[in-house]
Amino acid sequence: MITTPTNSYSESEDRSSRLDRLHQSQTLAAIVIAAWQIGLHVARTLVEQQLNERAKRPTDWGPCSVCGQRLHSKGFATRQMVTLVGLVQWRRRLGRCPQGCKGSHAAPFDQTLGIAPYQQSSVELKRLGCLLSLFVPFELAAWLLSQLSGIQVSDDSLWQWVQQYGQQAACQWETDVENWENGEDPVPEALSDDLAAMPLLIAADGVTVPLRPQVGTPAGKTLWREVKVGLLARLSHRINRHGKLVTRLQRRRLVAVLGDMATFRPRLQLEAARAGIATAPHVVWLSDGARGFWRLFETCFSHLAVGILDFYHAAAYLWQAADAYKDGNPARTPQMWFERLRHQLRHGYVHRIISELRWLSRSPNTAAPTRTVLKRVHDFFDKHRHHVQYRLFKKQGLPIGSGMVESACKWLIQQRFKGVGMRWSEPGLNHLLQLRVAWGNQRFDTLFSQHSLVLPIISPNR
Ligand SMILES: [Zn+2]
Repeated sequence: MITTPTNSYSESEDRSSRLDRLHQSQTLAAIVIAAWQIGLHVARTLVEQQLNERAKRPTDWGPCSVCGQRLHSKGFATRQMVTLVGLVQWRRRLGRCPQGCKGSHAAPFDQTLGIAPYQQSSVELKRLGCLLSLFVPFELAAWLLSQLSGIQVSDDSLWQWVQQYGQQAACQWETDVENWENGEDPVPEALSDDLAAMPLLIAADGVTVPLRPQVGTPAGKTLWREVKVGLLARLSHRINRHGKLVTRLQRRRLVAVLGDMATFRPRLQLEAARAGIATAPHVVWLSDGARGFWRLFETCFSHLAVGILDFYHAAAYLWQAADAYKDGNPARTPQMWFERLRHQLRHGYVHRIISELRWLSRSPNTAAPTRTVLKRVHDFFDKHRHHVQYRLFKKQGLPIGSGMVESACKWLIQQRFKGVGMRWSEPGLNHLLQLRVAWGNQRFDTLFSQHSLVLPIISPNR
């Protein structure tokens, strides 16, 4: 809007009262807030001046999208937008087909600015809103945003922004997977020589999330569905002050899918290719006993990776056997036998465990129901005998517990999606999940803009 005399009068009155407030402020905090407020007003004025000046430059009218005739100017009209520095308004030319074709309205200056028709909030603000929504519920994110920026946005708007950019992230995944399946090689991420020399860990786990059973209504019993989470990272080692070898994750990447193995598999493979699986000196696969993940390992990774079964899950299987086998021998309580078996497992004597279980499961002295349990545990260890060589793995400095992927699940899923009373629609959960994954993989900011919108980088106060 072109400023009318009344407007500029009230504007200058505001300006003098803001300056008065600055001069009258007593405490440091009050002076800072008064100066900051002036700064915001200056910023908003600068933005509006820029926009109004640029909008007056000659417009390059394109053809009508319906009939192809060159569009004509219909004069200036007001556009406004909520931005990080407040509501800004400017006037720019609108064009229309001389034939009056329906839908021929155009605002070329809007396109130059990278804003869409009906867009009400600017991208740098949407980025901040989405960023806060990654970590806290939408209502709380809206409140935090107003505390941090002074901009009032409804939780509903935040939800919409997350849907918009989460969908964009999901589409990006789909395109990447499609290109990869069509034979296009993914570009591996750049790695320093140090990182490139480290072993690559690929781990997978599942975690359930609460969904609404019906679309559009919160009614009904909660539906629990599994999110499959993949963790990829380079492993570095260092000796801590107690002389113990500590493994650390470097260059962590995440894959998460609310869906089946067929959807999860290509994403994990693609991310593994990006993480440099083809050139890594060692590749390690780590997961618990879940059959689906081991099938995935066999089909996709077993030809170049060492498979490791999580030690604690393996030990839990041993407990099943020990607990079932009670022969009344006081020198062999279930607890004692379990401890011996676990010790053997940890120190590389899995062949002895397998032999003992085989012998006991065939012995006529063992009760029939116990034999069934022992047979099941025997078969499990027989199948996984190469994946439970814990002595060897430890010697090679490899992790034997899947705690790292379990804590990734907690961090990625539990913290944001399983709050008290939370239940999600499938797309609502998926979009936020993909945004969280993008953030965890350092790909959040490129969803919003090719140039940086990150305030700490821009701020003169670093
Ligand atoms: Zn036309």
